[in-house]
Amino acid sequence: MAGIRSYNRRVLVTGGAGFLGSHLCERLLARGDEVVCADNYFTGSRSNITHLLGNPHFEAIRHDVTFPLYVEVDEIYNLACPASPVHYQHDPVQTTKTSVHGAINMLGLAKRLNARILQASTSEVYGDPVVHPQPEEYWGNVNPIGPRSCYDEGKRCAETLFFDYHRQHRLAIKVMRIFNTYGPRMHPNDGRVVSNFIMQALRGEPITVYGDGAQTRSFCYVDDLIDGMVRLMDSDPAITGPINIGNPGEFTMLELAEQVIALTGSRSAIEHRPLPQDDPRQRRPDITKAKALLDWEPTVPLREGLARTIADFRRRFFA
Ligand code: NAD
Ligand code: UDP
Ligand code: UDP
Repeated sequence: MAGIRSYNRRVLVTGGAGFLGSHLCERLLARGDEVVCADNYFTGSRSNITHLLGNPHFEAIRHDVTFPLYVEVDEIYNLACPASPVHYQHDPVQTTKTSVHGAINMLGLAKRLNARILQASTSEVYGDPVVHPQPEEYWGNVNPIGPRSCYDEGKRCAETLFFDYHRQHRLAIKVMRIFNTYGPRMHPNDGRVVSNFIMQALRGEPITVYGDGAQTRSFCYVDDLIDGMVRLMDSDPAITGPINIGNPGEFTMLELAEQVIALTGSRSAIEHRPLPQDDPRQRRPDITKAKALLDWEPTVPLREGLARTIADFRRRFFA
């Protein structure tokens, strides 16, 4: 389609200097879009986008989405928000503000421009789910006052705002519920399980498994995730979501630890630590909708994605 457009589409990516955002900026530039990245560099970093700064179709602006933003674009991907428990619990009030005020500002911008807007929501809206795997119709089991609530409830409120702007102002919205995603450029100190295990294995330190390690997660490789995100944005306007994007392959944290040890050839031992409060016991996306509506499903198996991620961590921190 890019070939028949007479102008370059201008796309705003909030949180564009983060892990997922930087991969998205790359993907959009590669197909010929003009990209404006807005980020306050709270958890993202300029090093994630340094390689894009020389591209005449790329522009980076330092901006906090809790403040209004006036730019002229055709599409908005709203990714700004710290995503790992360590980061989003660092300043929980700012986390809720980022999701809620950030959504209001970006929706206001989309309304003024009549631009299509996609929200990076999360599997965390399902909380500690009692329905497994999680279909989009499930309303979730979220603690409204716990240490994870700033993230979960902020993202839930953002979804509410998206659907109200859609109903009230006829805005073209896309709400994507992202399940745990990993890959090159992950933050080494974000406390997330994949980055922790890889850093620990490469340093020969103990692998810290929280609780008994029987809790499960489903890990999606970043390239697959970005493919699903762009497909959703480009889909028929009638497709608003919410739509799950993730890899249904489900693993226990002990299984993940064993895979990381095997792939790194590390001698690290497994050490158990206390399970954090409100840690969901299981999580796996039901991706029936993504398959049917977007013709999307993940293609990179965990083993292969981990090998690529380990190679990236070796290059960045152990070269
Ligand atoms: P990340 O922390 O690497 O990226 C988030 C980016 O947002 C960072 O660059 C950060 O500096 C920026 N940011 C934070 N607050 C901001 C603010 N107030 N104004 C402007 N920029 C701000 O995390 P990520 O993994 O790339 O996540 C991106 C999005 O995807 C987030 O919205 C997250 O909630 C969502 N998500 C990610 C995952 C995952 O597994 N990675 C899972 C579910 C949802
Ligand atoms: N906004 C923005 N950029 C724009 C238009 C609006 O950041 O180009 C912000 C502005 O701060 C506003 C919010 O989006 O408060 C919501 O806009 P909306 O038009 O929905 O409501 P308003 O508060 O203006 O009545
Ligand atoms: N976890 C772990 N060891 C670590 C970091 C995390 O066992 O060093 C566990 C954590 O308790 C959770 C799972 O791994 O059960 C995924 O944690 P993460 O913070 O990556 O993501 P989320 O809980 O938000 O899905």
